[in-house]
Amino acid sequence: MSSLEKILVSACFIGQKVRYNGQVKPLINEYLSLWSKQNRLMAICPEVKGGLPVPRPPAEISQQTGQVITITNVDVTEQFSSGAEQALQLCLQHNIRFALLKESSPSCGSRTIYDGNFSQQKISGQGITTKLLQQNNIQVFSEDSIEELVLAMKTSDPTS
Ligand code: SF4
Repeated sequence: MSSLEKILVSACFIGQKVRYNGQVKPLINEYLSLWSKQNRLMAICPEVKGGLPVPRPPAEISQQTGQVITITNVDVTEQFSSGAEQALQLCLQHNIRFALLKESSPSCGSRTIYDGNFSQQKISGQGITTKLLQQNNIQVFSEDSIEELVLAMKTSDPTS
C-alpha cells in the first residue's frame, strides 16, 4: 500500500463554505495539516454533491422512517443518498479506506446524529454517507476520533 494513501474528508473541515448555514467548520489538527501538505486529502460535501444549495435548511434523519427531512418539512432523502453514492464512488476510484467526517451531521456523523425532531438532542447513529461507506468497508472517523484514525492507518500500513 502506498504511503500516500488518500483520506476522504468533510469539505467543511478544510475551509469550504458548504454547511447548511453557509459556514465552514474548520478543523485545526496537526495530522490534518500534515495530510494536507502531503496532498492526501480528498474533500467532499455529500449534501452539495447531491444537489442541495448553500445555504440550505437544516435536515435531520427521521427515526421513524429513515427519511431525511428538512426543518421546513421537505424530503431530501434522494439528494442525501446521491451525495453518499458520489462519496463512495470517489473512495472506490482512489482506493480510499479511511474517512474523516464531521460528527453529528445527518450525512457525515459516525457516532452521533440529531434525533430527527430538531430538538438539539443527539442520539447514537450514523449519517447517510457514513452508513454507505461503512457498508463498503471504509472506516469512518470524526474530529473526536482522529487518534483512532491515525492508529487504524498505522495498523493497516506501518509506513503510513
Ligand atoms: S454534509 Fe458533511 S461535508 Fe457537507 S457541510 Fe455537512 S458535515 Fe460538512
